[in-house]
Amino acid sequence: MAATRTFSIIKPDATRRNLTGAVTRMLEEAGLRVVASKRILMSREQAEGFYGVHRERPFFNDLVTFMTSGPVVVQVLEGENAVQRNRDVMGATNPENAEPGTIRKELAESIEANSVHGSDSEENARIEIDFFFKPEEIVG
Ligand code: ATP
Ligand code: MG
Repeated sequence: MAATRTFSIIKPDATRRNLTGAVTRMLEEAGLRVVASKRILMSREQAEGFYGVHRERPFFNDLVTFMTSGPVVVQVLEGENAVQRNRDVMGATNPENAEPGTIRKELAESIEANSVHGSDSEENARIEIDFFFKPEEIVG
């Protein structure tokens, strides 16, 4: 099967605890390759745009505040079946429900401060990659 791409964010709870390397290692051990990466401080506008689908959810404002509370690392990951592979190694949204060995089970603090984001479909992966990266910033 050909390699595909997905989009990942190492969230502020993880960068704050110096876990950028620990998260990336788990992604790499799951068979994903980091083909683009940058550490940024998301603006409120960026976070609101990125999480626009959740605008009506009760946790939206807290989520935007959290995602802008510290640096994040945005990444493009490449591998076979990258979207699903990344979702599998991330684990369930709520770390309490995540399987042992997943990033969220091993590292996350709470349902909000859950250490990583990963695209949920190939279509959203393309949209999310375009939101943060220029084509020349991705080197496979
Ligand atoms: P992500 O989109 O970040 O990869 P996800 O797809 O597992 O996570 P979503 O349902 O898309 O989960 O929710 C987006 C993010 O919003 C979650 O990762 C989490 O940080 C936050 N979130 C989701 N549900 C809740 C909740 N009930 N309370 C607080 N925060 C929540
Ligand atoms: Mg999601």
